[in-house]
Amino acid sequence: MKAAIVRQNSDGDVDIVERPTPTIGHGEALVAVEYCGVCHTDLHVAAGDYGKKPGRVLGHEGIGIVKQVAEDVTALKPGDRVSIAWLYQSCGHCEYCVTGRETLCRSVKNAGYTVDGAMATECIVAADYAVKVPAGLDPAQASSITCAGVTTYKATKVSNIEPGQWIAMFGAGGLGNLAVQYAKKVFGARVIAVDINDDKLTLAQEVGADLVINSAKVDVVQAIQDKVGGAHAAVVTAVSKVAFNAAVNSVRAGGRVVAVGLPPETMDLSIPRVVLDGIEIVGSLVGTRQDLAEAFDFGARGLVVPVVHLRTLDETNAIFQEMRDGKIQGRMVIDMKQSCSCH
Ligand SMILES: [Zn+2]
Ligand SMILES: [Zn+2]
Repeated sequence: MKAAIVRQNSDGDVDIVERPTPTIGHGEALVAVEYCGVCHTDLHVAAGDYGKKPGRVLGHEGIGIVKQVAEDVTALKPGDRVSIAWLYQSCGHCEYCVTGRETLCRSVKNAGYTVDGAMATECIVAADYAVKVPAGLDPAQASSITCAGVTTYKATKVSNIEPGQWIAMFGAGGLGNLAVQYAKKVFGARVIAVDINDDKLTLAQEVGADLVINSAKVDVVQAIQDKVGGAHAAVVTAVSKVAFNAAVNSVRAGGRVVAVGLPPETMDLSIPRVVLDGIEIVGSLVGTRQDLAEAFDFGARGLVVPVVHLRTLDETNAIFQEMRDGKIQGRMVIDMKQSCSCH
């Protein structure tokens, strides 16, 4: 098989290499990967930002067809189309796993980080953790839902937003664009998209944002307070401390701020603001298998349509550079079928 692996020196780029097809063990299935989206997390893993992982196959936005299952597998059969997500496997028996919070499991395995991922023509999945892709959902679009989609769907769920209420989405990139769609089409909220890039705001408007604000040009806190009296909730996918601070000040009393983006800094929090205005701030990390099944279903029904651009595996380092340069609109998805003859 062909795979994109983290370089020995973890310099942030990948090597495209030929590797033997991995063999399945108990509870596992072998998947012929069709598509794998490229995520900012891949940049961090390739650069060793979360600890060096030389030789690791990247990729956690994978979609593929099951080729082979281990004898004990009952969840999948050959021919099933499944996801390869960041939540590769959790322990299944801890406090978090048994209370529907498996993404917080302390022994979680993550595809493309702790185990080999989907940026390869073939990969292994833990059969019980691979979520089936419903018929009617385009597999390239499904790859985007596997990470960006489920992350923003879950974050919007966590925001407790109700139909008709205002939600502010800070960041209108790959995640933010999907956040706008889930909030608008699935939760029935009114959506404010905030970004510093007009092209991304135009795209947000096209997919349903009621209000767009370029925070590089206007005072976003003032604008949201003036126009809607403060948002009922905010979701921050922007990787910027400034956006987190603005989100806290953009919600109305009793508002909830959901943190998704991961800037390495701390945020400023006015204690009187939090106490006197009853502001809630909560983190949200990807989604559970059930969240992903739900996020897929909304995609299959056409309510949410990820903006994807197909690329080849050989272009991975070029895509990484475009991401670093902030040039990408929507999601770059590697077409694995173009990358090898084994399909
Ligand atoms: Zn991702
Ligand atoms: Zn667990």
